This record gives sequence, structure tokens and C-alpha cells, in this order.
Amino acid sequence: MLLKLLKGQEFVNYAKGRLSSPVDVVGYGATDNLDDRVIAALLSTRDKVGVIVGNYTGGSFEEKVQRFAASYQGQVSHDEMREFVLLHELSHQAAANEGHGVEYRANAYVESYCAHKIKAAKAKGDHASVARYQRISKVAKDMKNKAKKSGK
Ligand SMILES: [Zn+2]
Repeated sequence: MLLKLLKGQEFVNYAKGRLSSPVDVVGYGATDNLDDRVIAALLSTRDKVGVIVGNYTGGSFEEKVQRFAASYQGQVSHDEMREFVLLHELSHQAAANEGHGVEYRANAYVESYCAHKIKAAKAKGDHASVARYQRISKVAKDMKNKAKKSGK
């Protein structure tokens, strides 16, 4: 339900035309079984059925989103960071089970989705949405560059 509110369905529709074999996300949940640096994850089977989980190891999902947002020192809101995290996990629908470079590709995917949202918002004169997706795109770009450096 949360993802629906956060335009998850819109993203899936955007992604469907671009993915050859996306993971079918059938649910959302929580875990306390992942490394404490992980905010959320897409867990999927080999037959590409998956669930997105928030990770509660070392803090709640929202506390981790808050800490991540705080690392941008006011440049990115909590709400925008939550949307980044969820878009990133949805992007793993494309990148799951592909081995090397999945984090790079997931973040590159979020960037391309943001570019699509910025273009649509500009056409409508929706300046607030243009700015919102520019900020989310900046996080995606930073994370993409980090992934590149670490070979993920
Ligand atoms: Zn990831």
C-alpha cells in the first residue's frame, strides 16, 4: 500500500516497457535479518517472484531513511529520500540475479526514471515536482558513482 501511495505502480508501468524479465513484486514487508547498513531490499526467488522489505536491524526503516537524508545536510527531505529508497528497490526488478553491477544499474535506472518525471513535470509547469525529482536524481547519481567505485 505504501508503495502505491509513493507511485510504485506508476514506476512499474514505466519499467514494464523497458524490462525483458522483471521480478514480479508480490508483497512488502519487514526483516531484521540483513546487515545494519541496509535500509531495504528486494528479495526474490529464481523464478523472479519478489518482496520488498524494510530492514529493522540497527533501527527502523524510517530511522534509517532519516539518517540517510541527514547525510545530505538539508538538501534532500526525508520524504524524498524514502521515495529514492523505494524506487531503488523497485529498480532491482530489472537488476536482480544479474550479478556484478546490480547496484550501479539500479541507481542508473532511478536516474532515468527521474529524468522522465522531470520532463513530464516541466511540460506541466510543476516546478515543485521538477525540483523534487532533481534532488532524488542527485542521490541516485551519487549512489551510482559509489557503486561504480566499489564495483557493485
Ligand atoms: Zn540496491
